[in-house]
Amino acid sequence: MPDKTPKVLPCPFCGSKGVAIAPEGRRLAFATCESDECAVVTKGYSTIEEASAAWNRRAVPKPEPLTQEQVLDMNGGWVWVAAYNDGWGYVRYYDGYVEVNHMRHLLDALGKTWLAYTTKPEGTDGR
Ligand SMILES: [Zn+2]
Repeated sequence: MPDKTPKVLPCPFCGSKGVAIAPEGRRLAFATCESDECAVVTKGYSTIEEASAAWNRRAVPKPEPLTQEQVLDMNGGWVWVAAYNDGWGYVRYYDGYVEVNHMRHLLDALGKTWLAYTTKPEGTDGR
């Protein structure tokens, strides 16, 4: 018998990977975080597929672009760069991780010619 349990992402609020989908047979299906401190739950859906899809939409919020301060705080870390101006007046689309120190000289233009994120923004290609 194939595994029909839909894949669910970690909890968007506490990061817990313990996420339960109410089994079929109940009147409404819902997804709930199994962490005691969190226990966030979706509203009821008619199928477990809908409940897990709703959970997963929530679990992948569109990330906000980082501010200059946030980038500086990540000194030595890596940021996801969506686009940048190469300093010669050309905006290049990059879409990849770059070490923060390599972007330092462009920090004044953050938000104007380039955007940085902690992780790759899903559903966007920066273009
Ligand atoms: Zn949680």
